Amino acid sequence: MKEPRLVIGSRRRCDNDGRFYTVKTETHRFCRDACRKAFHRYGSPFLQLRTCIQREVELAADAIEFRLFAALDGGAQARYRQANPKRAGRFDEQLEEVETGQGRKSA
Ligand SMILES: [Zn+2]
Repeated sequence: MKEPRLVIGSRRRCDNDGRFYTVKTETHRFCRDACRKAFHRYGSPFLQLRTCIQREVELAADAIEFRLFAALDGGAQARYRQANPKRAGRFDEQLEEVETGQGRKSA
């Protein structure tokens, strides 16, 4: 994907660390050389952050859904299993782990 040309003399945020700088050429995207090198070596830090946040949100949503599933009665769990067989299978395994884990602790 080709990046759009920048306006020389305008202020913008560095693609690597988000600091403000003044654009000197149409392809000048970093506040300093270290940022340019870091960006090309490690990729976009914002992309990494976004991926990391997305993963954490998914994990948290999964944990909440598992708690709701565990709180359902047998009939409602059966209906959930029909609607989401894959997820329910994972939740069943998690429930088993929780139960056997507690069993070992109390024994
Ligand atoms: Zn920078």
